[in-house]
Amino acid sequence: QPDLDGDFGQIMDFASKYTRMSVRTNADTPKDAVVAREFGAQGIGLCRTEHMFFEGERIKTVREMILSSDEDGRRTALNKLLPYQRGDFEGILEAMEGYGVTIRLLDPPLHEFVPHTEAAQQEMAKEMGISLAEVKTKVSDLSEFNPMLGHRGCRLGNTYPEITEMQARAIIEAALNLKARGIITKPEIMVPLIGTVEELKMQAEIIHTTAELIFKEKGEKVEYLVGTMIEIPRAALTADLVAGIADFFSFGTNDLTQMTFGYSRDDANKFLPIYLEKGILKNDPFQILDQTGVGQLVEMGTQKGRSVKPELKVGICGEHGGEPSSVEFCDSVGMNYVSCSPFRVPIARVAAAQANIKKKG
Ligand code: PEP
Ligand code: MG
Repeated sequence: QPDLDGDFGQIMDFASKYTRMSVRTNADTPKDAVVAREFGAQGIGLCRTEHMFFEGERIKTVREMILSSDEDGRRTALNKLLPYQRGDFEGILEAMEGYGVTIRLLDPPLHEFVPHTEAAQQEMAKEMGISLAEVKTKVSDLSEFNPMLGHRGCRLGNTYPEITEMQARAIIEAALNLKARGIITKPEIMVPLIGTVEELKMQAEIIHTTAELIFKEKGEKVEYLVGTMIEIPRAALTADLVAGIADFFSFGTNDLTQMTFGYSRDDANKFLPIYLEKGILKNDPFQILDQTGVGQLVEMGTQKGRSVKPELKVGICGEHGGEPSSVEFCDSVGMNYVSCSPFRVPIARVAAAQANIKKKG
């Protein structure tokens, strides 16, 4: 529990007075959202929805979905997941009432959902009434050499639009349920891992069509936004086209760093310590934003986006959003907010205030 009446509270009050950017949090549960609010977070900049699919019995349904060989099978599994997702989103939107909440559509490296062990495969064969051999064939079809550059992010939602439909429905219905209880929210639906504007266009169309359908069904509407992560260099390079479709941008600097350097997020620990020791790199670029290279893409993406949409809301939700020198950089390119894990919110608030004061001289 932060001591808001003591020194901590005073420093935070001071920070709030001098900050231009707001500080949001990365939170996937109402509990994290509440902690972050106590630390002064003003909204959620990234709610990752992947982990929600692992809870309890859900993972079996998720596996049923990815192992299904046709759309009907996937839809049956998704219909079972819908009430869970609606509950997840109601909880998180309510916990952040009064602030913006960015919910990101599913972005798992698909292999994390695949049943790899014999026992899990046997369980799925029983669950789905198919043979173990069939499950094994499907698992092998789904296996990828490079999952982080493979079938993930919006590529999933574009190849299986019914996944996006289910998540969009869950988000909009959650906001409608809250509205019925007098709680007004405006969810920000975020599409992950786009590299071309067409990828975003297709996802945005599914979201808008689903929302309109629900509004007709229920005779009631809610406001919502559709935006995108900018985390593939190509998305930053073509940000002027992307901004035509997006209500907001959020820089995913974890992936943007991975793809700009060409360093795998999963394997960089094998050589980064040696690079740092030898002075080939001054800092770990996954911790401290590389302003020389990755930063150029962030700056260019922001400028290009705003060249066609001056009011475009821009933030960052990679790990760098809670690291002071990176926060200062985000302020310098004119971002509206940074988003970081709940416990880094106070540091980010101080860094955001310092950056603004420094800039003014
Ligand atoms: C990112 O890539 O910076 C990001 C926030 O998304 P994730 O870490 O979930 O890939
Ligand atoms: Mg990412």
